[in-house]
Amino acid sequence: MAYHIDTGLIKEKFKVDCECPLCEIQKIVEEQFLHEFLNDAVMEENTRITVGKKGFCSRHFDMLFTRQNKLSVALQIGTRAEVLQNYMGEIKSAKQAKKLAEQIDDASKRCVICSLTEDSMVKYYKTIAQMFTKEKDFFKSIISSKGFCLHHYAELLRYSSFAGFMKDEYVSVLSSTQNRNFNRLSSELKTFCDKHDYRRALEPLGDAETALPRMRIKLYGEKIE
Ligand SMILES: [Zn+2]
Ligand SMILES: [Zn+2]
Repeated sequence: MAYHIDTGLIKEKFKVDCECPLCEIQKIVEEQFLHEFLNDAVMEENTRITVGKKGFCSRHFDMLFTRQNKLSVALQIGTRAEVLQNYMGEIKSAKQAKKLAEQIDDASKRCVICSLTEDSMVKYYKTIAQMFTKEKDFFKSIISSKGFCLHHYAELLRYSSFAGFMKDEYVSVLSSTQNRNFNRLSSELKTFCDKHDYRRALEPLGDAETALPRMRIKLYGEKIE
């Protein structure tokens, strides 16, 4: 059983004080793909064909647009628009309309950067499970983390069988870490609410002050812009 990827980034991000180290990893992975699509990839024939077929989701369009190099984005969106032109023909019957509606919906579901990011992240989920088995102290990094956002917790569970003969221990460590940290955050959120009572208004909020934005990360993952 071999590691799928370099483990350095995983170790580094599990040490970060955050609500989900996988979100931290995903930020780096996504940024690399955004960088590629704004630079070299834009000239490659294969990439242009894939961009034409899949296009970008609105979130990744916005992320590309807010970075430098608007020409790269314009060229790629131009390629995509050429493909979408196929759906813009005139139609003459209600039956055709229904079919076209489905085709348009279907054509809008995919995103080339989402696909690449998801493929990469699957390698991280598998590698983390393998590290649990192969690296003596890695379980401590999981236990001392603050748990994961819901999506990444589900993905780690989904790929837990990659921990092989230690898969039961692995899910036990994952779930106890998640359980403890979800309770921690819920209780910080409760403190935040309690301290809004005027009788306690002068008491310091401490960590609870940021409980709500951190719960946002726990529930929906980190907002990446
Ligand atoms: Zn996450
Ligand atoms: Zn996307």
